[in-house]
Amino acid sequence: MLEIRDLHAKIADTDTEIIRGLNLTVKAGEVAAIMGPNGSGKSTLSYILSGRDDYEVTSGDILYNGESILELDPAERAAKGIFLAFQYPVEIPGVATMQFLKVAMNSQRKARGEAELTTPDFMRRVKEAASHLKIDPDMLKRPLNVGFSGGEKKRAEILQMALLEPKLCILDETDSGLDIDALKIVADGVNALRSPDRAVVVITHYQRLLDYIVPDTVHVLYKGQVIKTGDKTLAHELEANGYADIIGAAA
Ligand code: ADP
Ligand code: MG
Ligand code: MG
Repeated sequence: MLEIRDLHAKIADTDTEIIRGLNLTVKAGEVAAIMGPNGSGKSTLSYILSGRDDYEVTSGDILYNGESILELDPAERAAKGIFLAFQYPVEIPGVATMQFLKVAMNSQRKARGEAELTTPDFMRRVKEAASHLKIDPDMLKRPLNVGFSGGEKKRAEILQMALLEPKLCILDETDSGLDIDALKIVADGVNALRSPDRAVVVITHYQRLLDYIVPDTVHVLYKGQVIKTGDKTLAHELEANGYADIIGAAA
């Protein structure tokens, strides 16, 4: 589903290369974890996948279902079913969360050539998904993320993910200092989405999240490259021994 081939990328308008020959394959049905020490390029990779224009791919390719997505803008990527959740969700003052969700769902449907949801149909879907996530309906009347607690932001993010039914979900949870409740919200949301036709990439600094989302594959990112790939036991190994051994072996 996702194939990254010898990717090199730099910060736009600079010579600072952050991604330096990265290879990664994620199959449909798979939950892949990307781990790595601080500064290894994990967040940069998620921004590049989302199509942000402050990074520039200098060589290599990113294939989604066999097609390059490098020329697609963020909205076109989203329309194809790619969902990115960020460490620091944006606040949208003046727009009720409910309204935001409706616009997001309908613009995605439009891009897919599907009819707009009727208001009752939209309401039914939102209420059902919100109740699964134990979201207080009053929260949906407030502007998105404005004054939300950490846990509420996580719930709102996972609610968006559940409603948009993406095919490829990429979650950057690095450094976000998730407490145990937020961790469980993310994990439950991701686990509920697991299906044979969907893939999830969880980017995380913490092994602990992977106690709740058990990954099929674990990739270690260091200096902009994947230096080791393994199964879930690799995450446990990293927790016990740190990154030094793997970095040493790859050097
Ligand atoms: P991680 O998420 O693995 O901690 P990042 O992707 O945030 O790593 O950062 C990788 C490297 O790129 C770091 O050395 C960081 O300082 C650098 N970097 C990322 N974005 C920028 C930027 N806009 N300007 C300068 N350096 C950047
Ligand atoms: Mg970091
Ligand atoms: Mg990061």
